[in-house]
Amino acid sequence: MDNEIKLLKNNDKKEWTDLEWMNEFYDFLRGECPENIHFGKGHGIKLSPNKAYSIIYYLQEHFPLIPDHIEQCSECKSLYDSNSSGYHADFNEKFYCDSCMPPFIDEKDERIMRKRFERKQKLND
Ligand SMILES: [Zn+2]
Repeated sequence: MDNEIKLLKNNDKKEWTDLEWMNEFYDFLRGECPENIHFGKGHGIKLSPNKAYSIIYYLQEHFPLIPDHIEQCSECKSLYDSNSSGYHADFNEKFYCDSCMPPFIDEKDERIMRKRFERKQKLND
C-alpha cells in the first residue's frame, strides 16, 4: 500500500488506504465517532458534508497534513481518491466520483459542454 498519510502511531494497527483514513475523519466530522474515541457530553461534532469537507480542504491546502488527491464529489458528497477514480470537469469546476460521473467524460463531449456553459455565462453577463 502506497499511502501519503504517514501516521505518527497506528493505535489500532489498521492497514488502511489514504481514502479509508480520510473517510473515517470525514464521518467523524459529520457526527459518527470512531469506536475507540470517547468525548464528554457536549463535545460531539456534527457538521454538514460541505463544512466537514472545508476542514479537510484546509488540512490539505493550508496546513498540508493530508494528501490533496482526496476529493469530495460535488453531487453525492462522498470522498474519492482522484489518483484512482473520479473526474474533475473544468468547465463547471465540479468534482465527480465514479458513481456520479456525468456522461461527458471524453474530451470532445467536455468541449461541447464547455462551449455551452461559456455561451450561457456570456448571456448572463
Ligand atoms: Zn458522487
